[in-house]
Amino acid sequence: MKRWIAVLSLAAAAMGASATPALYWRSARLRAAGNQSFSESHILSRSPGRLHSVLQFDQPLTAEGRRRLSLHGVRIVGLLPPNGYVISRPAMTDRGVLPPHATYLIPAEAKLSPQVAAAGSGNYIVSFHPDVPAALARSILHENHIEIRENPDLLPGHVLISASREQVDQISKYDEVAYVFPASQDLVDGTPTAVCGGPITLEGPIGQYVARIGEGWDGQGPGNASLRFAFLQLTSQLDVNELHQAFKRALANWSNYAQIDFTESAEPYGLKTLAVLFARGSHGDPYPFDGPGNVLAHTFYPAPANPEPIAGDLHFDEDEDWNSIDFFSVALHELGHALGLGHSDQPAAVMYPYYKRVTGLNLEDIDAIRQLYAFREPRPLDEPAPPAGPSIPAIPEGPADPADPALPVNPTGPSLPATPGAPSGPVMPPVPSGPAEPSNPVTPAPPDNPATPSAPTAPGVPSTPSVPSTPTIPATPDEPRKPGGDTTAPSLSITYPFNTTVGTMQPTSAIRGVAFDNTGVTEVSWSTNDGQTGVAQGTTFWSIPSVKLRIGITVVTICARDAAGNTAWRSLVVTRI
Ligand code: ZN
Ligand code: CA
Ligand code: ZN
Repeated sequence: MKRWIAVLSLAAAAMGASATPALYWRSARLRAAGNQSFSESHILSRSPGRLHSVLQFDQPLTAEGRRRLSLHGVRIVGLLPPNGYVISRPAMTDRGVLPPHATYLIPAEAKLSPQVAAAGSGNYIVSFHPDVPAALARSILHENHIEIRENPDLLPGHVLISASREQVDQISKYDEVAYVFPASQDLVDGTPTAVCGGPITLEGPIGQYVARIGEGWDGQGPGNASLRFAFLQLTSQLDVNELHQAFKRALANWSNYAQIDFTESAEPYGLKTLAVLFARGSHGDPYPFDGPGNVLAHTFYPAPANPEPIAGDLHFDEDEDWNSIDFFSVALHELGHALGLGHSDQPAAVMYPYYKRVTGLNLEDIDAIRQLYAFREPRPLDEPAPPAGPSIPAIPEGPADPADPALPVNPTGPSLPATPGAPSGPVMPPVPSGPAEPSNPVTPAPPDNPATPSAPTAPGVPSTPSVPSTPTIPATPDEPRKPGGDTTAPSLSITYPFNTTVGTMQPTSAIRGVAFDNTGVTEVSWSTNDGQTGVAQGTTFWSIPSVKLRIGITVVTICARDAAGNTAWRSLVVTRI
């Protein structure tokens, strides 16, 4: 206890009140408890003895710091950058644990989206803190005579209500309520819809109340970003060419409005590289997918909110029926996170947490991306490109050569079917229940560069001309593939340590695991975000005797491959304190 208080006091001393960066709470500036009397008597609560508040440090909490908080009954229920944590705590927590100038109350007015303030009475999503039991959440609404509208597609912790402005004001006084924002018409109508698993960090998910988590890839102020993208593992449910094309259209939509450029890379673990991964269930990060329905995808925010190489990576739930989902719409939303955007409160925005079928960005999304990156004069997205490099998805001849310039994605390629003359495409009508039609029928277009080095495509075939005929292969395009050969990727698991995020005081760590493959695993290799690389001992039962750990976070990525070059990978995040 003594040691813990000393640590906090040090942190407090380093964070003079004026030097503390403002927390990125969306709707209002939070009040430091130390600037007021430390009184919470105005807060309504149905959770005897517990309260939510925010604790801000001068640097991210270490695993040991989290452990010490938990010894005092403090639970972290959300992240609030920079270096802030939404906590659930005993109401009588010692001020030594919660220094008043680093502890923030969450006033009722901060829980209302600016959109609510504008809207008055209507339909809203009430987001409860994740530790509030569903039954308690509903009883708070019932006791205030608020109508709950049932909807099976809501995220846990979200409740859809119809309420007057006065009722919304009243429930915002409850400690259990985190945030209130407008419900989309799809949710009100009960149109089947799905939800984003959220912008995430390895430290935790990001609540709706978080305005932004960082400054984007370009650092402070609106600047330029040159990013890469790589297809790490795709789904066999969709044609690989169409999937590549839909993803590139999504990229082009963002780069059309801000100074962001994308080039394709064959190295998914490179820096500043947005890796696209389809995976099911547990897939190596702390956010296992939930099977069919609900969460379709999640995306890791840019560095430094996340360490490389996972920063900017987009994960899609392989357990979904991707033939009935518009991949373009989901990818467009997830790319917003990969560029640094959080969720929007505006139902019309692409970045609203519940997906809808769209053809392009909304004005709100365009405005948001221009807060992070410099303005770019948009062009109609269906305008034929000026003579430029071929817009070809790269299928490299061999392992990536860093010296190879990656192929540019043409942001104005002719196959972009955005509405002509409408920089922000109108939102499409809701997806009808039942299989969606292919969202963006690819217009068979003449190749935009006659020199495209590929065999002519059959007329009428949706073309991404340079891709060899591997349409059904879930590609890991970083390896040459033997035509007609083995396409089954190995399976890979880490058996030690037991969790994929671990804390230690040791300067090195051993890692062990198992890997299986239909034709045999030929090699298990590993690398870290600080440049260490190696080959594990063994294959089926593999072992890495010693990975050096610096103070702070080390991300170890382990890759198993078979003779045909199919790969599987897992990451492990080790925090050394
Ligand atoms: Zn999202
Ligand atoms: Ca799912
Ligand atoms: Zn994931």
